[in-house]
Amino acid sequence: QGLHRRRRDADDASRPGLIDRVEANADRVLDMVEALVEFATQRAGHASLVLADIDIAQVARGAVRDLSPSLDPSRIKISEDDIALARANGVAMHRVVTNLVLNALKYSSSDAPVELTFTRSRPGWVRLSVIDQGRGIDPDDLDTIFDEFARGRLAENDGGSGLGLASVRELVEQQDGVVAIESKVGVGTTVTIDMPSPRAIKPAAPSQRSKLSSSVRLPVEPTGQASG
Ligand code: ADP
Repeated sequence: QGLHRRRRDADDASRPGLIDRVEANADRVLDMVEALVEFATQRAGHASLVLADIDIAQVARGAVRDLSPSLDPSRIKISEDDIALARANGVAMHRVVTNLVLNALKYSSSDAPVELTFTRSRPGWVRLSVIDQGRGIDPDDLDTIFDEFARGRLAENDGGSGLGLASVRELVEQQDGVVAIESKVGVGTTVTIDMPSPRAIKPAAPSQRSKLSSSVRLPVEPTGQASG
């Protein structure tokens, strides 16, 4: 109502600026509603995330490419030929990478690089790291930063919803993955996603396959200590 009155009283000169602000606020509210709907939809869709053996490095490159028209691609460092096989859902991983890269870019200065790496963190797992050199997160916020609506004490009036990291955690855990964050104020933030790797398991040999149920898989490492 206050805004409405101010708008009615505004003289012609200030009116265009006011309308811009009203529109910007409306856009923000719409963004938040979209984030909420997406988050709620993900939760509801828990049972329907189908996992497959996929190359999450390839998925990540696709997500970065899809973002490229709207941001400076030279800021993002990602290997063109890494292969990182994981048991995961491609659509969910695309969403996870998109969220993490957008955060890394948003909370860094406009010329700071953002790096994506793929490593074997431990036997049976593959790790995607999103590394930035941005403003970092206050240590007292790290335990709760993945909670819904948590924005941390360094958050500014920048229109964030606090649902990005919550949806990353939700999606990663729905795929039996593990997400973690490390951060130093003024130095940067690294988010790591550990996903089970199909390298630790291999399908039965073709001759045996017909005798075994399609879901039976044999350990690849002869020592049997594979799937850590
Ligand atoms: P949003 O970005 O919409 O606020 P998120 O859930 O994605 O919501 O992030 C929660 C909060 O965590 C952000 O408000 C921000 O303060 C902090 N944050 C997330 N990612 C980073 C990052 N890469 N660097 C610094 N702060 C971050």
